[in-house]
Amino acid sequence: MTAARSTKRRHQVRVEMSLQFARFPYLKRLDEFDFKAQRAVDKRLVEELATGRFLSEGRNIIFLGPPGVGKTHLAIALGVVTAELGHRVYFTTAIELARKLTRAMNENRLSREMKNLTRPKLLIVDEVGYLKLEQPEASLVFQTISQRYERQGAMILTSNKAFSAWGEVFAGDAVMASAALDRLLHRCTVVNIRGESYRMKDRHRPGERVDVTQAGFEQPAQTQGQTKRSRRQAEPAAKEVSA
Ligand code: ADP
Ligand code: MG
Repeated sequence: MTAARSTKRRHQVRVEMSLQFARFPYLKRLDEFDFKAQRAVDKRLVEELATGRFLSEGRNIIFLGPPGVGKTHLAIALGVVTAELGHRVYFTTAIELARKLTRAMNENRLSREMKNLTRPKLLIVDEVGYLKLEQPEASLVFQTISQRYERQGAMILTSNKAFSAWGEVFAGDAVMASAALDRLLHRCTVVNIRGESYRMKDRHRPGERVDVTQAGFEQPAQTQGQTKRSRRQAEPAAKEVSA
């Protein structure tokens, strides 16, 4: 085998291992994402994210929007890109993360578990806000966010809840929610996705609109000016996209 081929093979093995380690619920790629069907998502912005620069910058990405608009698809696709760049990535949902940490705490191995969550280059936390966390769970999720922030480790989060409703997500603790958002938004790209569920796309007659705002989704509030740090969103690295 030539040197070039063996380097390539080593990289392939690394990518395969990373994809296994990631525990994606399924694989999705960016080229499977129909940008024409989802006008609220800026293709160029997603392409910039796909360069992986956000990983070395320790920049977070938050996809906000109602169900079915492609938040998980985009999060997984960027996770796959991360694996293909040869980095470790770990996928979980907020509730799964909370339960995993609670179990670890009860079994006296919290710090080891926390290390496992801070080591990967990218941590994806899907479905923040779908289920309300209990107080101890919220605190453990907060610690994860905080530790990754200290190490400038990138995260991708998806949520159906506007930031203004994150108090509820964090067990009704508005102070904890705001401290979490403060860290998350310090270096962050927020992508607000609106529109109807892609799953419903072909299920109703053309011209008939499914009103997702009726489905209990609050439009995300302006993300700027919530906290001192989050105002830095106005920096070039932080771009807010809305429909
Ligand atoms: P969300 O996480 O926002 O609820 P998903 O990412 O799970 O939504 O999307 C629901 C389904 O629709 C998935 O199978 C996803 O691949 C698909 N989907 C959503 N938006 C698009 C799109 N713009 N192009 C292609 N597939 C899409
Ligand atoms: Mg989803």
